[in-house]
Amino acid sequence: MEVYKFGGASVRDAENIQNVVKIISDTRKSKLVVVISAMGKMTNALEKVVNALYAEGKAAAEACLDEVKSYHTQEIISLFHKEDQVLQQVLPFFDQVSDLLQASGMEQYDRDYDQIVSCGELSSTTLVDAYMREQGINSVWLDARAVVRTNDRYREGRVDWQETESLISEQVNELLQKHDIVVTQGFIGSDAAGYTTTLGREGSDYTASIFSYILNADLMSIWKDVPGILTGDPRRFENLTKIDRLSYREAIEMTYYGAKVIHPKTIKPIQNKGIPLHVRSFVDPGGTGTLISDEIELNYPPVIVVEDDQALVHISTRDFSFVAEHHLSKLFDLFTKTRVKVNMMRNTAISFSICTHDDEQKFSALESEMQDEFKVIIDRGLELITIRHFNQEVVDELKKGKIVLFEERLSNTLQLVVKNVPIVKRK
Ligand code: ADP
Ligand code: ASP
Ligand code: MG
Repeated sequence: MEVYKFGGASVRDAENIQNVVKIISDTRKSKLVVVISAMGKMTNALEKVVNALYAEGKAAAEACLDEVKSYHTQEIISLFHKEDQVLQQVLPFFDQVSDLLQASGMEQYDRDYDQIVSCGELSSTTLVDAYMREQGINSVWLDARAVVRTNDRYREGRVDWQETESLISEQVNELLQKHDIVVTQGFIGSDAAGYTTTLGREGSDYTASIFSYILNADLMSIWKDVPGILTGDPRRFENLTKIDRLSYREAIEMTYYGAKVIHPKTIKPIQNKGIPLHVRSFVDPGGTGTLISDEIELNYPPVIVVEDDQALVHISTRDFSFVAEHHLSKLFDLFTKTRVKVNMMRNTAISFSICTHDDEQKFSALESEMQDEFKVIIDRGLELITIRHFNQEVVDELKKGKIVLFEERLSNTLQLVVKNVPIVKRK
């Protein structure tokens, strides 16, 4: 069997859903599990519902929810000849969110977030499954929450592999005996108490990898709006080339440094079972894409990964004592507690600095936790640039117009934390 994953851009509207279903029927060679994200930017729109609930209250949240609901309704009307039945399947997901908005005590932001935002994947998969069945394809809808079990760390659910393995093996294999295709949601799962959980933004790639691992897939394909993995993000750079083949190791390094094309947790499960991952284009399904598989290291061209919205957090001891191991262990406990993720770090005698995602809320939590012992200075508005397989020409080009605050060279990886040079107007 094989696993396909389609992201938000590929199912953003009725026309794109038709394209996805065509790709599935044209390319399918065996039984298939299809993992799908929410339509287009619907996860962002649903995040607005949660934020409106907490910042402005129920009426504002309902207004935001209405926008999401009417988007889905319109796309259903344009996709189906007989839309009533599909609307009856999809609208209850929105009613459930509405009920939650009314009932929420507004005490558990993260838990409410997961109950609300998951509605995007539940709706998109219902739509795609219904459209496939209308086209005469033998598909069936599976609620991922029935098989993907996580802990109760809402918004960052950690998969309980043992439980998930037995649930997926049992239920999905049974469904695949009767059906050609199982359609399910990326990104979502449930905890032992029955609450919906999510695996972290962009987590659908990871879901596909969980299914691939457990079902021993022959191949996993993720269909993107790019021809494959390129030497940089095309939204940022020109003159990029496609990398035809990548080792798991190289792929894991790229995603670790923040290459947005694949979720960082995706590679490990498929590497562990030697399942190849094909990154393909839903715009040009005949293209060769990028094949990620276990093979000897190839000669790679320089690959650039840029992380925006970074900050340098400089932490120093108030009494000028050296930053010792016990300080570091305390600091790392605080990072875990406040969910601050370290992208790069460096220490000097009395200071320790990290590069992390710029997040006001997390920083104030961190500062209040450490103010007795440490002084904190934060440099904001930065970029973290990582160049794998760097050469001097690429490095010089990337440094143009930037002030370099941090630079670190490893054997084949160079990292820069930079700030744009301010434009000073001359008189
Ligand atoms: P999905 O629809 O599956 O969620 P994403 O939008 O998350 O897909 O990922 C695809 C995007 O990743 C591309 O549109 C591209 O802008 C971006 N991207 C970042 N780095 C790379 C890279 N090295 N190669 C290809 N695409 C990249
Ligand atoms: N819909 C979720 C998100 O936008 C998950 C995903 O697309 O992978 O983050
Ligand atoms: Mg994505």
